[in-house]
Amino acid sequence: MASPKEKAGKSGQAALRSLPSVEELLETEALKSAMTAYGRGLVVLSARAVIGRLRQDIISGKTVPEEMLAPEHLGPLIQDESAVIYYPSLKRLVNATGVVVHTNLGRSVLAPEAIEAVAAVAGSYSNLEYSLEKGARGSRHDHIERIITALTGAEAALVVNNNAAAVLLALAAFAAGREVVVSRGELIEIGGSFRIPEIMAASSARLVEVGTTNKTKLADYQKAIGTSTSMLLHIHTSNFKIVGFTAEVPIAGLSALAHEHGLIVMDDLGSGVLAGPPVLAGEPSVADSLAAGADIVTFSGDKLLGGPQAGIVVGKAGPVKKMKSHPMARALRVDKMTLAALQATLSLYLKPEEAMKRIPTLRMLGEPEADIENRAAELAACLAALGSDLATQVEKAAAKVGGGALPLLELDSYVCAISPAPLTAEQLAGRLRRTDPPVVGRIHKGRLLLDARTILPGETEEIVSAMKQALSQK
Ligand SMILES: *Cc1c(COP(=O)(O)O)cnc(C)c1O
Repeated sequence: MASPKEKAGKSGQAALRSLPSVEELLETEALKSAMTAYGRGLVVLSARAVIGRLRQDIISGKTVPEEMLAPEHLGPLIQDESAVIYYPSLKRLVNATGVVVHTNLGRSVLAPEAIEAVAAVAGSYSNLEYSLEKGARGSRHDHIERIITALTGAEAALVVNNNAAAVLLALAAFAAGREVVVSRGELIEIGGSFRIPEIMAASSARLVEVGTTNKTKLADYQKAIGTSTSMLLHIHTSNFKIVGFTAEVPIAGLSALAHEHGLIVMDDLGSGVLAGPPVLAGEPSVADSLAAGADIVTFSGDKLLGGPQAGIVVGKAGPVKKMKSHPMARALRVDKMTLAALQATLSLYLKPEEAMKRIPTLRMLGEPEADIENRAAELAACLAALGSDLATQVEKAAAKVGGGALPLLELDSYVCAISPAPLTAEQLAGRLRRTDPPVVGRIHKGRLLLDARTILPGETEEIVSAMKQALSQK
């Protein structure tokens, strides 16, 4: 019989003694079914972790209520602990933020052709590094080089893990121990961990800053060129704009100066546009940069290109060859799934009108406003039909390109605005993050906005069912 004191909570030795053993717990029905679902090893590990934490609590002097030590209480805790590890944490979700290339949400959604291509090489052997013509070893670079040069007019091309890797490899290949001249207005940070001065340091290139934050002139570059200069680097200031009293030197000007001194000109374009809807007209294109004389141009595969994460390097034959044969190229190389997805995405660009329809990033950026408004209206009507207290309204709003491209551009869009009283917008947003699939919107002035520009075909019904789940959560 438990004394009143023990009922209130055990402490010290008594509590430690009444902790069940792992073996004891494994005999309970709850953990037997957990072992069937998650595997014995994981359940044992979880049981040890849960008991270990309780033991620590007791040792540190916390009073642990007796019922918390009972197997019936511990079973579900151990099950939950196992489930967190067992189920993949990376999962699909519905992007209703209106940010098309959302870096936190996985950037670009692949075209159906690219998804098929990934599945095909993932599930079989492939000629990744095998020449079917010669019956001998081939190069993984060969699969992708010709289509990239055909689309951009470059002499040569190379694909690495991402654009940050492309910049790093170029600096390592051309500028290790030497100087790289960059305008002060272009010393950017992308997403917290890609900062030009730090990438330079990592590749042991020396950064030489020229000009001022708002104005850099050709003469500034000219004065900075010395015996250890290797490269003039131009960086697209993707995620911010300097406006007003500004000046920068166009690539053509940099190229003329660099080539006079036998230096390399590199243009880090960030997004890199091959073709796209009119909203992208302001972005510099890869072909323009090459035509202006850049020796090396780098850009991302998963920003405005709408493909998989990759860093694409295009340029003159000599410099690209030098990068390909640098020892670091092996460490930064892409796998067969990336190559398959990229190749399929690039094939679509051979017919730009197909690319506009099939590549989700381009389709979303170019979608007519009336279609977006219809989708928002359909969503609002379906949500209103749930018959709860949700007040929904269709409103005009501004969506964003994202991915650090065109930071000032507001895309006309439509949202379904939800006033979820008695819940707050934050509470509803929190519940929608826990539905299956999760739905992520944006909160504005006490309302939850679901932006129809980034809601994919078929997702309206999923949002409605997620909303049902969210409203029934306690
Ligand atoms: C996005 C960006 C990068 C980094 O590209 P990742 O593909 O994300 O590695 C580098 N430079 C510029 C100018 C960018 O916009």
